[in-house]
Amino acid sequence: MSTKPKYIILLGPPASGKGTQAALLHDHLGVPHVASGDLFRYNLKNNTPLGIQAKAYMDKGELVPDDITIGMVMDRLSRPDCEDGALLDGFPRTIAQAEALGKALAEKGQEVTRVLNIVVPDEILVERVTGRRLCKTCGASYHIKFKPPKQEGICDLDGGELYQRDDDTEETVGNRLRVYWEQTSPLIDYYQEKGILVDVDGNQDIAEVTEALKEALADL
Ligand code: ADP
Ligand code: AMP
Ligand code: ZN
Repeated sequence: MSTKPKYIILLGPPASGKGTQAALLHDHLGVPHVASGDLFRYNLKNNTPLGIQAKAYMDKGELVPDDITIGMVMDRLSRPDCEDGALLDGFPRTIAQAEALGKALAEKGQEVTRVLNIVVPDEILVERVTGRRLCKTCGASYHIKFKPPKQEGICDLDGGELYQRDDDTEETVGNRLRVYWEQTSPLIDYYQEKGILVDVDGNQDIAEVTEALKEALADL
């Protein structure tokens, strides 16, 4: 693997496996995992003004407005640990976010290296969303059926308590998928036209998806 900065985007609908795969891949790539949803949840947990602003949008499964989101993610990317790249998960989600990211990287003489488009049919995603559980302490993601923890309700990594996200409900998932198709899926063509997008089948076992993603990055 070369030492050129690597800014890699995991694109895909809600619950397509972006966070699960990012946790497995970021060490291999040697770059931090930057997840906009995790940044919002961190702000929410700490009752910051940003968290309070974002909450209403998140609860409804709407996107948080671009100016808030772009500011938050750019601030994270400007930290020293992102100098050699980042594995972006959940950002960008709109063309305006993609353009802001491209512009910020260009100012540093850098660019998005690759976009991994994780493809999973909508009907599979509903069960993935409703069965998802997260660790309160470390944020690790589990699934009651597809990735159960060794002990029910307890994180394998640190014994933290598992919880269900407020927005991981059957009521919200329909809206989140609609929002994905309307506002985020145009990014598929956007990055395809730049020649940096690779489709990966996300409807296979977690380990198989990891292998496919590694293969799609093998030349970097
Ligand atoms: P995203 O970050 O894209 O929203 P997650 O990585 O949190 O998605 O995955 C959503 C849910 O689906 C989690 O409960 C996770 O354990 C489960 N999951 C992830 N990848 C797979 C897979 N390949 N097969 C089955 N379940 C999966
Ligand atoms: P996620 O953890 O990626 O599923 O994101 C959870 C929620 O946070 C989304 O439903 C949005 O309300 C908000 N969010 C996360 N990332 C973004 C983004 N890039 N743009 C706008 N809203 C976002
Ligand atoms: Zn944990």
